[in-house]
Amino acid sequence: MEVWHDGHRQANLVKRYSNGKVSVVWQPSLCIHSAVCVGGLSKVFHPKELPWITLEPATTDEIVRQVNQCPSGALTWEKV
Ligand code: SF4
Repeated sequence: MEVWHDGHRQANLVKRYSNGKVSVVWQPSLCIHSAVCVGGLSKVFHPKELPWITLEPATTDEIVRQVNQCPSGALTWEKV
């Protein structure tokens, strides 16, 4: 089976990725693998690499805008 990204089969896992201004919260159990995040901002969301989310290449605005597009609620964000 293809490896989608780290930890996606661990039901209660919650991961946080921060750039010092915003934290992206990812709940793999909610992810429906629509790839909206990957298609919209591939410099941040790259499921074949570990970690699969790296915030540094994008601005906070870009990150928030993309996270808001996640159709399942698997990605959310919080102010740091
Ligand atoms: S946009 Fe949301 S549901 Fe779709 S792959 Fe990304 S995290 Fe998963």
